[in-house]
Amino acid sequence: MNYNSTKGFIINWNFLLSINYSIFDLSIKNSKLTFIQMKLLEGKVAIITGASRGIGSGIAKVFAQHGANVAFTYSSSAESAMALENELSAMGIKAKGYKSNAADFNEAQKLVDDVMAEFGNVDVLINNAGITKDNLLMRMSEEDFDKVIEINLKSVFNMTKAVQKIMLKNRKGSIVNMSSVVGVKGNAGQANYAASKAGMIGFTKSVALELGSRNIRCNAIAPGFIETEMTAKLNDDVVQGWRDSIPLKRGGTPEDVANACLYFASDMSAYVSGQVLNVCGGMLT
Ligand code: NAP
Repeated sequence: MNYNSTKGFIINWNFLLSINYSIFDLSIKNSKLTFIQMKLLEGKVAIITGASRGIGSGIAKVFAQHGANVAFTYSSSAESAMALENELSAMGIKAKGYKSNAADFNEAQKLVDDVMAEFGNVDVLINNAGITKDNLLMRMSEEDFDKVIEINLKSVFNMTKAVQKIMLKNRKGSIVNMSSVVGVKGNAGQANYAASKAGMIGFTKSVALELGSRNIRCNAIAPGFIETEMTAKLNDDVVQGWRDSIPLKRGGTPEDVANACLYFASDMSAYVSGQVLNVCGGMLT
């Protein structure tokens, strides 16, 4: 597109036609050139676990902006789940929040059955639900170890098993597992959490190998320091210390992580599977 002082912008159509996969759709309305953002998940159905707040809520909003119908879960925050359901529905897509414990095998299966009855399909699964119960190994109880493994790791097995049949039948699907830089690198005081997040990476790669021939992709995201309620438990000095140590000099936002999920959920990543994407402002470099 060139600029001419008398005619304004002149479109080079050959150039435009050469862009097959532009994320922008160009249209001319009333002789004015307008850019309309193309919706990358139009008509797809996504299940997002743990979306009543934080990163999950950010993912739900970005997915809805991109035309996805969103089924999401929560553990106990019924009020914020209802508020999110209303906010998403107002964006013109179908949205529903389900109270469902991702760590429970039968509840995960029932959730997927309910979503199928309500939405008719599942194209994308985002395994995002997670908790921390930090302590030095010396003080970490067996219960706190088991709880973190169950909610963070076993939930991924439960949910993936439950959607597998649908995706196999569809001969397509995208599964995204929310790991952590801590799962890649380890962290003192988080042996349970790091083990759960490292386990998710092994699970992700195995599923990618097992289901790739059926066009089902499985990838993991390893967020760094993302400012949510999970990190709000830390004191201000610790938070500032984290920000200062990150090459981009800020904590991440739920939207930063949501945009990476959008890439993995959409056909933009059609040839990407079994990968771990660090979304950490350069922290792991
Ligand atoms: P968060 O603000 O604490 O939100 C956690 C979400 O998970 C909530 O919606 C919560 O529901 C839900 N949840 C908890 N247990 C559940 C269960 N058993 N079944 C279903 N849902 C459950 O956490 P976040 O910071 O957004 O983190 C989201 C994910 O990103 C987690 O897997 C976390 O490990 C990962 N991550 C976060 C960071 C970070 O810096 N924040 C960094 C790396 C990785 P309720 O509201 O009902 O409790």
